[in-house]
Amino acid sequence: MAQLDVQAKLAILADAAKYDASCASSGTAKRNSRGGKGVGSSEGMGICHAYAPDGRCISLLKILLTNSCIFDCAYCINRKSSNVRRARFTAQEVVRLTLEFYKRNYIEGLFLSSGIIRSSNYTMEQIVEVARSLREDHDFRGYIHLKTIPDADPELVRQAGLHANRVSINVELPTTSGLTRLAPEKDVRQIEGAMREMKASIADADDAAKRFKSAPKFAPAGQSTQMIVGADAASDADIVRRSSSLYDRFGLRRVYYSAFSPIPDASAVLPLKRPPLMREHRLYQSDWLMRFYGFTSAEVRSATDAQGMLPLDIDPKLAWALKFRDGFPVDVNRAPKEMLLRIPGLGTKAVDRIMSSRRWRKLRLDDVARLTLSIAKVRPFITTLDWRPTFLTDRTDLRMLVAPRQQQLELFTA
Ligand code: SF4
Repeated sequence: MAQLDVQAKLAILADAAKYDASCASSGTAKRNSRGGKGVGSSEGMGICHAYAPDGRCISLLKILLTNSCIFDCAYCINRKSSNVRRARFTAQEVVRLTLEFYKRNYIEGLFLSSGIIRSSNYTMEQIVEVARSLREDHDFRGYIHLKTIPDADPELVRQAGLHANRVSINVELPTTSGLTRLAPEKDVRQIEGAMREMKASIADADDAAKRFKSAPKFAPAGQSTQMIVGADAASDADIVRRSSSLYDRFGLRRVYYSAFSPIPDASAVLPLKRPPLMREHRLYQSDWLMRFYGFTSAEVRSATDAQGMLPLDIDPKLAWALKFRDGFPVDVNRAPKEMLLRIPGLGTKAVDRIMSSRRWRKLRLDDVARLTLSIAKVRPFITTLDWRPTFLTDRTDLRMLVAPRQQQLELFTA
């Protein structure tokens, strides 16, 4: 590997980290002083935004320790056979960079992942060393999200949890057959074993914290994972089923979905085109239905078509309501919260407002309209003191009436 300065390594390793969606990230607005250099510039530095457990949006330095990897996962730009420029940080370089960015107020924490160097244990030792040094040598109190290497020694993974706020272990693909085909060196049992151990360690730490004030914290922001969408033949129904099982079995805080994007010099086993980004969005919406709206995985899957795919033109809650119209209209003045949460167009906050307002008075259509972006979408599915959607709920063209209008994009905008 050619000798590179830290700036050059940062450019390569921040760029390589952008393919990892498991810290919900978005590019930061560039703070570009003097052509990307100079004080205050964050251009090209891999700063992403993530949400802390308390809901705050925080900036993280998102980098890889190295983009060299001994594995050859077909979908990954860092795989052994990929023809990309390689770079590698030392643990101390990452520590220094994190502290310097932190002191300049560019970031509030670090997201660190890595290709596998030499062996899983060696890589995990390096990752742990970064977090250990930040916490113990420099008393770093910022947020740390570490990606763990699934078949690393459980003791190393446990040490990662002692220093990090969040740890993630990527399942990568929704089906075992997809993983076997595209990432043959990975083993679903090892990945799930690591998640199981992480769940147990988090639960032990929670128990200890209830009994002893001084008990050490362990991954207080929990564990998460990432699934690549569209690299294999898995349908949306397969993905929803897998996510639900991961949430139930391993107590994950989040499953992140990342639409597969064709990479330079891609393996021939991969599709040539990326899936529509809207597919990723619909999967996030279905994930929210399971986590916040009380939908079971089977209910979300029942909103898919014969091929197991969610519609792209309407959201999964609306798709479900259109399929199961016999449960509607719902009386917003009397229905239990679980049913209100199933009304298309009503979010959790709107439902809470309805629940508290209706204790004092009967709600009219106008009252509901004030709580939603589109009363046209909600109307066919509710009754209020002054509204009953006679025949509307059963109309054969209801989907057309409530689907968002397709907008013709302008070729030239002012
Ligand atoms: S192990 Fe991770 S970094 Fe290495 S090729 Fe597979 S996905 Fe890429």
